Amino acid sequence: MAKERVGLYPGTFDPITKGHSDIIRRAARLVDRLVIGVAINRDKGPLFDLEERIDMVRGEVTELGDLHGCKIDVLPFETLLMHYAVEVGAGIIIRGLRAVSDFEYEFQMVGMNDRLNPDVETVFLMASDRYQFIASKLVKEIARLGGEIDQFVPPSVAKRLYERFNGAVGPATSAAGE
Ligand code: ADP
Repeated sequence: MAKERVGLYPGTFDPITKGHSDIIRRAARLVDRLVIGVAINRDKGPLFDLEERIDMVRGEVTELGDLHGCKIDVLPFETLLMHYAVEVGAGIIIRGLRAVSDFEYEFQMVGMNDRLNPDVETVFLMASDRYQFIASKLVKEIARLGGEIDQFVPPSVAKRLYERFNGAVGPATSAAGE
């Protein structure tokens, strides 16, 4: 029997967006098991704590339903990415690539990770053009200012963002109608 192909999709997911979901959907076509590694990333000062971020990713994975029979695990990680890849048995690291903004950082990461462990291959996927421009950072900014974010994140995530910033269930202008 062919060896199980395991992919690792690491990120901060603060919070998960429709861009991340699109990458998860695409990655699931390439591997038998996908580990979504939610990084603790204290340095980035995430808005949501690790448990909340994992919870949101798990909720979204459930919403995505059957992904070509790919088994998905959402797990926290704090170690070096390449060590974590070995720990979960991943031969492929999945990263999303947006226009030019991600390129330089990802370029450096691939170069360094390849030297740390040449057996692990990094694969870049592009989200559909509808989702490519979405960034967790901007979604947080829009939510904080009471703007409409439903097109960028799943409904359960939008609700958490509005609650976090406005103590409300929707964007500032329509909160009263809920
Ligand atoms: P990190 O701190 O590792 O950059 P993120 O949660 O911001 O964590 O992103 C995780 C991965 O998902 C990265 O590879 C990033 O480029 C990718 N990604 C995020 N948003 C999008 C998007 N809208 N389209 C494609 N890839 C994306």
